[in-house]
Amino acid sequence: MTTSAPALVELVDVSKRHDGSPPVAALRHVSVRVDRGELVAIVGPSGSGKSTLLNLVGTLDRPTTGQVWLDGTNVASLPDREVAAHRATSIGFVFQRFFLLDTISALDNVATALLYRGVNATDRRRRAARALARVGLARRAIHRPGQLSGGEQQRVAIARAIVGDPTLILADEPTGNLDSAAGQVVLDLLTELHADGTTVLVVTHDLGIASTLRRRIEIRDGRIASDSSA
Ligand code: ADP
Ligand code: MG
Repeated sequence: MTTSAPALVELVDVSKRHDGSPPVAALRHVSVRVDRGELVAIVGPSGSGKSTLLNLVGTLDRPTTGQVWLDGTNVASLPDREVAAHRATSIGFVFQRFFLLDTISALDNVATALLYRGVNATDRRRRAARALARVGLARRAIHRPGQLSGGEQQRVAIARAIVGDPTLILADEPTGNLDSAAGQVVLDLLTELHADGTTVLVVTHDLGIASTLRRRIEIRDGRIASDSSA
C-alpha cells in the first residue's frame, strides 16, 4: 500500500517518564504509524505502557521526548487550547470504567459531550438520540446509568464517544468490567464503527478479542515488542 497522505497517528521516537520516586519509564523510544481506517488492538501485560500510549495518542498527556503527529500536525507544537479543541472534535474515548454521570439520563450523558462544540441544546439532544440508537439503546435514553447494566452503560459511553463524529476512537480496556457476552457486544460495536470508516485503537488484555482484530501491537516494558503489520 502506498499513500502520500499523512498518517492519522504517528509517534516518532516517543518516550514518557512518569515523575515520582523513583520515576517510571512508561514508554521508551516508541515509533508507530496508524493510517486512516485501521482497527488496531494494543496488547501487553499490566503495567507495560498501554494506557500511557493511548493517552499520548489522545493528547490527554504529552510525551517527555519525541513527537506525536495527528493528521499531519505535531501536537507538541500546539498550545493547550488548540490541542483540547482538536481532541474535542476528532477523538472519542471509551474507558474501562464508564465515567458516566449518574445524576443525569443516558441521553444527557451523551448530549453533554457536545457542550463545547457550539451545538445548540435541541441539536445536542437530537444527535445524542441518534448516537444512542446506533448502539441499540434508543429505548433506554431516559434511564440513568444506575438503572442500566454494565454492558448498557458501556454502550452509552460509546454513544458519547461517537456523538461528535470523531475520526479516531480510543478504547482502553473497554470490555474489562464486562462479562463475555456484554464484552462481545461492545467489541461488535467497535468493529461496526470501524466498518463505517472510523479508525479504532483498542487496548485489551483479552487475547481472544485481540486475535479477531486485523492488526495487533504488543507492548512490553514500554517498547513495541511486535506489530503484526510491521
Ligand atoms: P498499562 O496500561 O499497560 O497497564 P500504564 O501505561 O498504565 O500500563 O503504566 C505504565 C507504567 O507507568 C506502570 O509502571 C505504571 O505504574 C506507570 N504509571 C502510569 N501512570 C502513572 C502516573 N500517572 N504516575 C506514575 N506512574 C505511572
Ligand atoms: Mg492500562
